[in-house]
Amino acid sequence: MKAMLSKAASEGYAVGAFNILDYNSIKAVAQAAEETNAPVIIQTSAKTVIFWGAAPLISWVRELAGSSSVPIALHLDHCKDLDLIKECIDSGWTSVMIDASSKPFEENLALSRQVVQMARPKDITVEAELGAIVGVEDDIHVKEQEAHLADPEQAVRFCREVEPDCFAPAIGTAHGVYKGEPKIAYGLLEEIATKTAVPIALHGGTGLADDVFKKCISLGCAKVNISTQLKYAFIDGFVAYHEAHNTQYNPLKVIDAQFNELKAGIIEKIKLFGSAGKA
Ligand SMILES: [Zn+2]
Repeated sequence: MKAMLSKAASEGYAVGAFNILDYNSIKAVAQAAEETNAPVIIQTSAKTVIFWGAAPLISWVRELAGSSSVPIALHLDHCKDLDLIKECIDSGWTSVMIDASSKPFEENLALSRQVVQMARPKDITVEAELGAIVGVEDDIHVKEQEAHLADPEQAVRFCREVEPDCFAPAIGTAHGVYKGEPKIAYGLLEEIATKTAVPIALHGGTGLADDVFKKCISLGCAKVNISTQLKYAFIDGFVAYHEAHNTQYNPLKVIDAQFNELKAGIIEKIKLFGSAGKA
């Protein structure tokens, strides 16, 4: 993932990181990437890894992406559990995110540093978070009033001491579905991206307007996470097919409809992020 993000940051586009749920959604990400000739990140939540186990997930990814003509990374999204991070590193994930952002600054810094020291000898990329990204993702709940943006001075010290390959500062985006117009702190994003010189990950991508994505990418976001949108596509693609053919009980057609719904949304985002043709 590190090489993908360095190239994206220097060429001014972003790599999409799409949260998968199962074999069908992994296939949708892999095929969307191939059809657009784009680098892509297959992202798993900690919950998804616990649900299936690391072994089946890694075998599906190897089967579907192992011989791909485009670069595909496998990334562990928001993880607070060092044992799970270690398990994913040992199982074949190419990058991991340590999310110790709910801890006090010094503790976040120490834990994030520990993960970098665990991952670097194995050439595994590490993403770390600073500040509180509002919303609900996995089992991390951040009450809106407790949310705080990343402090630029802390961000500089954090990146200097932790040396993450990818940095996720809270800049005003939120996980889940936006209830109002998100207030993105563009000045803060620009300042942090410039001062740290680390590729920035944009969390809470679902529901942002196209020009918001483009502006964030132009200011230093080299990785854009898309999760909630795919949860909707996963369920809506399935349900819509059945509602339109409610006397037909052919599961493979339903799975195929779900796959097409997922793939179409992923292709749209890959093109919007500017990563099409960048493989
Ligand atoms: Zn996130």
